[in-house]
Amino acid sequence: MDSRLLLLLTLSLLPACGKKGGDDQPIIPSAMVAPHTTAEFFDGYFASRYFIADPACQSSVSGGGKIDHANVSVWRDGKVAQTNLSFPTAQARPALSSKGISLALYGLYQQTDCGSATDASQCQSTPPVSLVAASTPLNICDTNREFVRTSVEAVALTGLAMLESASVFYRKVDGHSSDLPEASLLVLPKVETLYQDGATRSEAVDNLSYVPNFSGSPTFVIFPKGAFSVSMGRWVDVNLWEIPWTLAHEFGHHIFRFHSDIAAAASGIAGAVPVHSFPTAPDSNTGFALTAASGTRHIGDADLLAAVNEGFADLYAYYVQGSVPGMTKGIDCFHENRDAGIALFADAQPKVLSAAVLAQFMSTTKASPNIDCSVPFYQDIHVIGAIFAYGVDQIFSASVGQDAAKKTALMLDWAKRIGQDYLPTQGTASANLTFGTFAHAALATIANGSTLPVAACDAAKKVFPTYSDAWLSGEFTCK
Ligand SMILES: [Zn+2]
Repeated sequence: MDSRLLLLLTLSLLPACGKKGGDDQPIIPSAMVAPHTTAEFFDGYFASRYFIADPACQSSVSGGGKIDHANVSVWRDGKVAQTNLSFPTAQARPALSSKGISLALYGLYQQTDCGSATDASQCQSTPPVSLVAASTPLNICDTNREFVRTSVEAVALTGLAMLESASVFYRKVDGHSSDLPEASLLVLPKVETLYQDGATRSEAVDNLSYVPNFSGSPTFVIFPKGAFSVSMGRWVDVNLWEIPWTLAHEFGHHIFRFHSDIAAAASGIAGAVPVHSFPTAPDSNTGFALTAASGTRHIGDADLLAAVNEGFADLYAYYVQGSVPGMTKGIDCFHENRDAGIALFADAQPKVLSAAVLAQFMSTTKASPNIDCSVPFYQDIHVIGAIFAYGVDQIFSASVGQDAAKKTALMLDWAKRIGQDYLPTQGTASANLTFGTFAHAALATIANGSTLPVAACDAAKKVFPTYSDAWLSGEFTCK
């Protein structure tokens, strides 16, 4: 199967929803106009009408050059403001790109057919996927032009700015590699899943994702904003790609994959590592559709790794912003929960990998998330990841203080150790990996021989109490 299809397929696990097509609600794909034309492209699931602001440029051979500055919408201090950002290395043609991001793409339209299945959980394991429209490189001809917020160009420029700042930060960190692979940026794909023989569908919206291999390149994906979330009062005044934290988080997955050397580091419960797992569409049974309220689940090594990968990405995003709490403040569902500098979840539960939390994550019975997305759902890899991000930041701070670049250098070593712990166990019967394996790797990163700073021992006891006794009653001494 074409890799362009295969890898985005996993993303369609995200959304889920069910909306009957009827006479007044056309089914597929008449509501969608391919974005290559001058027309707007719109779908009832999207919150905005997206469009190419400069369609003539897409087939033109003139214009282009270096982009120095652009006005884009950026979330800062609790609101979105037009912000003039500088682009150190952006080129407008051929294909919008920058150092590290080899090209920006748009226009992908992919359909997955689940046949007579009624929802994602009933869909066959490898449903047929078709490419309705392939992605194409996005060009900008007039490098001084201002683009409207909902234009494809503005979304791509905003994403590029966020990724470039995450990439520039990486290249300043001790231990970074000049061999970090270039990646692509895919904006506003229409990734659709059909159920009940085409009478019901879902669209992937309200998310960002890191896809290890899309058309042969690691790719950051910016999905359209969804109408349902807005109707629920969620993310009303902000697009998720306008929050610097979110694409820095995705860049963290890119770094984790490279430095851990785990090629499949995007695998796990959520497939292609989306930025969150909150439901973004209605469901006929529960009102939300993230997870079936019943059914079984099996947690394996890949799921443990996926949760730690989320923690790593949260931590990277936190350090890109200077290791200062607040970058997700005021953002529905994220806020304190995904802020590695804050010890408590939004509902005041402590970020602790307690026996009770572990039991919920490892449970073979699916639970339902709270309808209030600020309440942590301990079967979500992002929530376990948030505990890791907080705990490992405490451990690293005990060693090098609040210097974000120094702590990021420790992260790179941590990723390498995780790979060294993880890879040899795969394919063996007695792997015996636990979350403790990966938290231990963070301690090993900062240990001086067998000695740890007292504050690191305290953090290990506080955040990873299930495992800390074994580490601190023999292997390590605290000084
Ligand atoms: Zn993630």
